Amino acid sequence: MTLEDVEKIPVGLVRCDEYDEDLIEQAVRDAINLAGGINRFLKPGMHVLVKPNLLMGADPSKAVCTHPAVLKAVCTVITGHGCTVTIADSPGAGIPYKPRNLIKAYDLAGYTELGTCPDVTLNKDTSSRTVSFPDGFFVRQFEIISPILDADAVVVVSKLKTHIYTGLTGATKNMFGAIPGLDKPPYHARMQDDLLFGKMLIDLNRCVKPILQVMDAIEIMEGDGPMAGTPAHLGAILASPDYIATDIVAARLIGFEPLSIGSIKAAKEKGLTDESRIDVKGATIQELTRPDIIKPQTQIPGGNSTWIRSLFRPVVYRLAGSYTLHPHLIRHKCTRCHKCERICPVSAVNLQDGYPIFDKNTCIRCYCCHEMCDSHAISLQPGLLYRILRPFIR
Ligand code: SF4
Ligand code: SF4
Repeated sequence: MTLEDVEKIPVGLVRCDEYDEDLIEQAVRDAINLAGGINRFLKPGMHVLVKPNLLMGADPSKAVCTHPAVLKAVCTVITGHGCTVTIADSPGAGIPYKPRNLIKAYDLAGYTELGTCPDVTLNKDTSSRTVSFPDGFFVRQFEIISPILDADAVVVVSKLKTHIYTGLTGATKNMFGAIPGLDKPPYHARMQDDLLFGKMLIDLNRCVKPILQVMDAIEIMEGDGPMAGTPAHLGAILASPDYIATDIVAARLIGFEPLSIGSIKAAKEKGLTDESRIDVKGATIQELTRPDIIKPQTQIPGGNSTWIRSLFRPVVYRLAGSYTLHPHLIRHKCTRCHKCERICPVSAVNLQDGYPIFDKNTCIRCYCCHEMCDSHAISLQPGLLYRILRPFIR
């Protein structure tokens, strides 16, 4: 659902400061009630796909994935309404979408126990289908994992994190996990700009049509998310029928100008969002905001100012080679797993003695390698122009 469909868009915002199962279940119920109530979204008997952020198997304390306690609370609310649930996601680009990788990711993220809850199944079907989407503004065909296509409704349970490529990842970016693992890198190759990438994400969400958003913003990630950042406390659960409204409120909560996020700007350009029509219910943004959350070092200069951003974009891209951040190997941390080589969408990673070498001329600075290196063996190093300009423009 988007602002195409209704007048005012509710976003339920509820304070919740810890991953205590009882507190979280109450917070999730309250947030969904503020967003319109479960009856508004689901009918008893429906089969519901619940989609977390399972970027990769990672301990819940690292704030990489949707916390299992939030996922469990959402499943409890949905099954309590008489629906059945399948939990499914395709982890990040460097991970082949195979049953054994899913099982490993579920284990590491603390999801395995959820598969024993009544009427809840953890997906192990790794098939996908091609879906035509003639209404796409920008992309008119997607490869999408089958359990999403087989469900009566899709409920997204996202994780709020900063993101080195898109600024932040929350509700809208979550849907990129609907695309199977190794089908993801070509999107980065085609859309070498966060606005173009944002347009694709909007089309993908319009294609899948998630019915309800719940966001885990209790412990978020700051700095160079979505993998290599640091956990930070925000203490919030959000719920809304609208992915864009959810992200706008999330952006405000952590001190981003919403229109500095490519997907929000893309939605605005298409008339799919209008911040003045968002109705934040429950807590206020002022009560929970943390503008001091550390932003990713890749944010384009003027990230908090749309006109400065527009001014700088062409310059930045013309001088990209010397301005932007480049991947750089921290050799002693590298395990030579070659995940970075596998996921690079433009084959800019070559191997020498088993260690990756990054070709600056081919690299499109999508940062997928940095995102997926779970050994934290890739740092981002600035070019000369970046080092000169950054103190003046940030
Ligand atoms: S840099 Fe990271 S992803 Fe690449 S080979 Fe080394 S450990 Fe693996
Ligand atoms: S080497 Fe460059 S293009 Fe390849 S994954 Fe890393 S950042 Fe992206």
